[in-house]
Amino acid sequence: MNSKKTGFNTICTHIGEIEDKQFKGAISPIYLSTSYAFEGVDTKRYPRYFNTPNQEALCKKIARLEKGEASLIFGSGMAAISTTLLAFLRKGDHIVLQRTLYGGTANLINEEFDKYGIEYSFVDSQDASGFEEKIKENTKVIYIETPSNPLLTITDIRAISELAQQKEIITMIDNTFASPVNQNPIELGIDIVLHSATKYLGGHSDILAGAVVSSEKNIEQIFHLAKNLGGSLSDFTVWMLERSIKTLGLRVKQQNKNAKKMAKWLEKHTDIEAVFYPGLKSHPDYEIAKKQMKGFGGMLSFELKKGLDASKFQKELKLIKSSMSLAGVESTILSPTLTSHALLTEEEREHQGINDGLLRFSVGIEEKEDLIRDIEQALEKIKILELEH
Ligand SMILES: *Cc1c(COP(=O)(O)O)cnc(C)c1O
Repeated sequence: MNSKKTGFNTICTHIGEIEDKQFKGAISPIYLSTSYAFEGVDTKRYPRYFNTPNQEALCKKIARLEKGEASLIFGSGMAAISTTLLAFLRKGDHIVLQRTLYGGTANLINEEFDKYGIEYSFVDSQDASGFEEKIKENTKVIYIETPSNPLLTITDIRAISELAQQKEIITMIDNTFASPVNQNPIELGIDIVLHSATKYLGGHSDILAGAVVSSEKNIEQIFHLAKNLGGSLSDFTVWMLERSIKTLGLRVKQQNKNAKKMAKWLEKHTDIEAVFYPGLKSHPDYEIAKKQMKGFGGMLSFELKKGLDASKFQKELKLIKSSMSLAGVESTILSPTLTSHALLTEEEREHQGINDGLLRFSVGIEEKEDLIRDIEQALEKIKILELEH
């Protein structure tokens, strides 16, 4: 089962599982102990050392899913991201980042990095040449996120990793939106893959967690800072995450299928102004997406036609819930202007192509006919409201 040929869903279900030798139970037992017998200075087991039985088991599974050598699991996506960034950057170093980043990551850079004397530059274009222009003598890391939030722009992973390899710069990617089902950046030359496991890895909107996957050597370097910062995940949640990942392949494939169908349906709809989904031929980055993604993911965004009120529309939806987070088995929707991107100025939002009518849609595993009916009835309601005015 540990062969290189083991398929994705088999890795999801079995890799890393702990054998229950005592009772022969079907699933990994859960070890909540925070205290283990001392077995020598090098092998002290302790949750904050990221080495409890359940942590080690899950790390094997996640590393295999992302085709890396090793991984670490954290208490949140941001714990994974912040620890990893700080493990490779010190005072006087420089990092080049994509402009369209998850809000929390952008806040970490903008609010904290000056304090540590770490320099940073944001790149507005997604082309490798845009990144190249920002590289300096002291650039140590290039950081990307693709597909991005909320417009699902695609960065060419291979082009970025080739550029970085030439200049001996470490590459990091936030692979949350794609999930390991749809994109394995290590195969495309990326050094370090980050996840908010709160999203697709967890998949049921009941787990906050993060993960990083890379080579043994890089994970060792991250571990040294991680044990000092203390952002490990509780073993109960580790165990829940192991269970969740068993259905990762099934869930995400259904979400891919639903999202593609919804994107195509929305694109044809006369009340919809624009649809952003990397699996649509009309998406400006479709060709790059096709090259580097195995599926196009469960996230899309769309704009209603001028004159239709997006927030009224959102309120009329019955099945599709308004929600801040994403990637659960249930479909959710949000307005980036009012939520995830509310802290940006209007100008900054405009610059990133985010207008007030934009809605970000996290497509779940429901039957697509029910999602279509829900959107249809909400559109009818708001059109009647408009007429009454
Ligand atoms: C949610 C999210 C994060 C942050 O993860 P938390 O688990 O909330 O800390 C990072 N990147 C992306 C793309 C996300 O969607």
